[in-house]
Amino acid sequence: MAAEPLLSVRDLTVTFPTGGGPVRAVDSLSFDVHRGRTLGIVGESGSGKSVTSMAVMGLHTGAEVTGSITLDGRELVGLAERDLNRLRGRKMAMVFQDPLSSLHPYYTVGEQIAEHHRVHFGSRRAAARQRAVEMLAEVGIPEPERRAGEYPHQFSGGMRQRVMIAMALACEPELLIADEPTTALDVTVQAQILELIARIQQERSLAVVLITHDLGVVARVAHEVLVMYGGRAAEQAPVEAVFAGPAHPYTRGLLDSLPRLDDADDTPLRAIPGSPPSLLAPAPGCAFAPRCPRAAAADADARERCERVRPRLAASDGRAVACHLPLSPDTAPMDRTRKAIP
Ligand code: SF4
Repeated sequence: MAAEPLLSVRDLTVTFPTGGGPVRAVDSLSFDVHRGRTLGIVGESGSGKSVTSMAVMGLHTGAEVTGSITLDGRELVGLAERDLNRLRGRKMAMVFQDPLSSLHPYYTVGEQIAEHHRVHFGSRRAAARQRAVEMLAEVGIPEPERRAGEYPHQFSGGMRQRVMIAMALACEPELLIADEPTTALDVTVQAQILELIARIQQERSLAVVLITHDLGVVARVAHEVLVMYGGRAAEQAPVEAVFAGPAHPYTRGLLDSLPRLDDADDTPLRAIPGSPPSLLAPAPGCAFAPRCPRAAAADADARERCERVRPRLAASDGRAVACHLPLSPDTAPMDRTRKAIP
């Protein structure tokens, strides 16, 4: 891609001090996000995807952050809190999984969006209120003038998430980070919120980072995919390449875990056996080795390499994979997966 990325992350490492020793929640992560594109960051709980987004926003309280995060050419690592505050809202904004915990129950949604606008633009009360109504209309809240005067508890879960998106976009940021924005919603509302994010992204040429545990969500809206495991990148590729044939056994496992439309009603859900790795005492080799069917099926020498030597992220043909025994794309056709997505 020719244009400079809006967000560029290089060798990002985030380490938390704990009673049991330092925990490296994100390890040597690099990725770019361009304007008008969506990067889906996928992985199970504990893979480091949310820590990555918090580090970008400068919200990694108590953690040591090394590496580089540049936003429109400006380095964010080491930036003073005062300067970060200026960027949050106007340059980058975040939408969280649970809007109820992010919205204040004592203030109307209109007041909260307007306040956000006033803080960043110093706008007058009436202008900020008008902006709040416009934003509610833009995210598809019916009767926005009236509903701006209502409180968060008067909105459904999906409508509250629309309010959060309205608030995030009120100051016209260029980067939107959405952390599991649809996880708490039912399937129909989830689809509506994803469509909303995709529409707004196109209209505003936003760069979007979508954090999710669900590859089905990624298939709907992402252009590129970053699969994380144990705090590291397992696979990075355009979304079509991942769904046409994942190269990393973990990505394959995530795809196999998606329910399919052509499954019989009594088909049990598939899950990746085992648990995510401990980040407190990481194994020397591939973090996925204890759960990896490809390593289990390999000969003793290959298996030992998986267990002892950490695979490096190697790039070719527009895809990067950290695996000693990557899958060949044509051994893993995943066409059916898209049909499973409502
Ligand atoms: Fe599996 Fe080995 Fe690849 Fe790790 S390096 S994903 S253990 S095959």
